[in-house]
Amino acid sequence: MNPSVYLVKGREKSLRRRHPWVFSRGIQRVEGKPSLGQTVDVYDHQGQWLACGAFSPNSQIRVRVWTFEQEEVNVEFFKKRLKEAQGLRDVLAARDGLTGYRLIAAESDGLPGITIDRYENFLVCQLLSAGAEAHKDNLVEALIAQYPECSIYERSDVSVRKKEGLKERTGVLHGELPPASVVIEENGVKISVDITGGHKTGFYLDQRDSREAAVKYVNGKRVLNCFCYTGGFGLYSLKGNAAEVINVDVSRPALDIAKSNAEMNGYDLSKAQFVNADVFKLLREYRDAGESFDVVIMDPPKFAESKAQLTGACRGYKDINMLAMQILKPGGKLLTYSCSGLMDNALFQKIIADAALDANRSVQFIERFEQAADHPIDSSYPEGFYLKGFACHVK
Ligand code: SAH
Repeated sequence: MNPSVYLVKGREKSLRRRHPWVFSRGIQRVEGKPSLGQTVDVYDHQGQWLACGAFSPNSQIRVRVWTFEQEEVNVEFFKKRLKEAQGLRDVLAARDGLTGYRLIAAESDGLPGITIDRYENFLVCQLLSAGAEAHKDNLVEALIAQYPECSIYERSDVSVRKKEGLKERTGVLHGELPPASVVIEENGVKISVDITGGHKTGFYLDQRDSREAAVKYVNGKRVLNCFCYTGGFGLYSLKGNAAEVINVDVSRPALDIAKSNAEMNGYDLSKAQFVNADVFKLLREYRDAGESFDVVIMDPPKFAESKAQLTGACRGYKDINMLAMQILKPGGKLLTYSCSGLMDNALFQKIIADAALDANRSVQFIERFEQAADHPIDSSYPEGFYLKGFACHVK
């Protein structure tokens, strides 16, 4: 028998809509003594069974639901979830020629706290919740059974684990240690991924569709690729025959990979520059020096980690987008993104509008972007939508 969690009257509503979180304030009482990450049954105030999930005694999100069915959470359960997720990815992988994709997008794939990215034959796991940690052995066993050709590596070096009472951890879970460079392919572009040392699990897979969408804007153009990481939009710009691409990032190791990625794809390196600089500073320097571009790509890291940071984040987004507009030639294109989940589409659009006013430019939104389909959004979990972007025609 699992320990039991009984909800305050009325607090069952979100679970009935299949939202997978139970907050601590919604709990009336707990029967039994669930340990960190242990599976518990959740009941409404009248004792009707609702779901079963993982108990997180240290987090405001006290229970994360594994399932709304009466089933055991064991190796078979994880195999089933993996199979469902793989079905969706198979279609994408075939369509876009992918050897790297997000296999499991946590809550959005019915596995709260678990992210798994596949790079060639390496599966890279990020376990963010107590429940994910408690079921690590089951998960790894299911992965080995389903993907006998793959090695499994853990990149749980993320600070949110503290909220769950967990330490950061990285290391091999099965098979081989990933080499410094694992080469994946997407849309005909080869990308070297540093699984053990790169950001997150090694690469920003979520921007794949936006990178491909950028290709049509760059033919013969002078492109500024801000926050380039390991090349990303810059590689696609070279694929799209840009006349010149200036890639900017604060990370020297990321820029080194960006350059070798361009080389590996056989692109003309004389068209590409790799600039180690702070985008905020560099844009001002470009503006003051009268530099101008046909296309500016603006794909910054997440500025808002919490609601308290949202106002500051808005200022940051407005600032860089205003600067980008100021250095765009008349009729130039701004491709701009926000991966802050706390900022919705409408707010981001408003920020771009404010930036246009400050830059004294008029702007038309001509295309909208979202995270790629291997980062799905479950209808019960709207929080899964975090990445948004616009192509803007800047007059
Ligand atoms: N566009 C990339 C992903 C960008 S991730 C792709 O398609 O793969 C965000 C990047 O911004 C990281 O590489 C990080 O090193 C860089 N970064 C963060 N702050 C920065 C700053 N102030 N100036 C320049 N780069 C910055």
